[in-house]
Amino acid sequence: MTQIPIAEIPEEWLPLSYSEDAAELELAISGVRFLQPIAVDLVLVKAAPVISATGRIKTSVTCECVRCLSRLLVPLDVPVATQFRPALPPLPPGEYQMPSEAAEDYYYQDDMVVLDDLVRQEVILAVPFRPQCRADCRGLCPQCGQDLNVGTCACAPPPDPRWAVLREYLKGK
Ligand SMILES: [Zn+2]
Ligand SMILES: [Zn+2]
Repeated sequence: MTQIPIAEIPEEWLPLSYSEDAAELELAISGVRFLQPIAVDLVLVKAAPVISATGRIKTSVTCECVRCLSRLLVPLDVPVATQFRPALPPLPPGEYQMPSEAAEDYYYQDDMVVLDDLVRQEVILAVPFRPQCRADCRGLCPQCGQDLNVGTCACAPPPDPRWAVLREYLKGK
């Protein structure tokens, strides 16, 4: 876990550069494999009570193409520009407060900025949601599983509804 006590952030700024394994961050995304540790380069700036964090997060992953299931390499280079705000004190039971409009901000507690949540969240958002090896990937044959990018198979093509009309017409002759 990477956490920075706020008291240790100097008046100017605190540059940070470290790498962490996805497993250590409990970062698991289905179909995604991390090829290298996640490299974090951030500068923390204290403007009490807000701590701003800017920099980049880099790693590379492989994802599965949603059509042909081949593995594709996706380098991730995520720009970060966010803020940590002090967590709101817990409200008395029965009271409710609207979430603040700065919902994309992160929060710190006990004068300690925990960077893990930030790194985890930014990586999850950066991984493509429906990766495709290429825009015109032809996918797999639904009948035999042949990769149609590589070659055709002997399966009958699914009946084209337009031919059905013609067949009916010819039958009537
Ligand atoms: Zn594909
Ligand atoms: Zn086939």
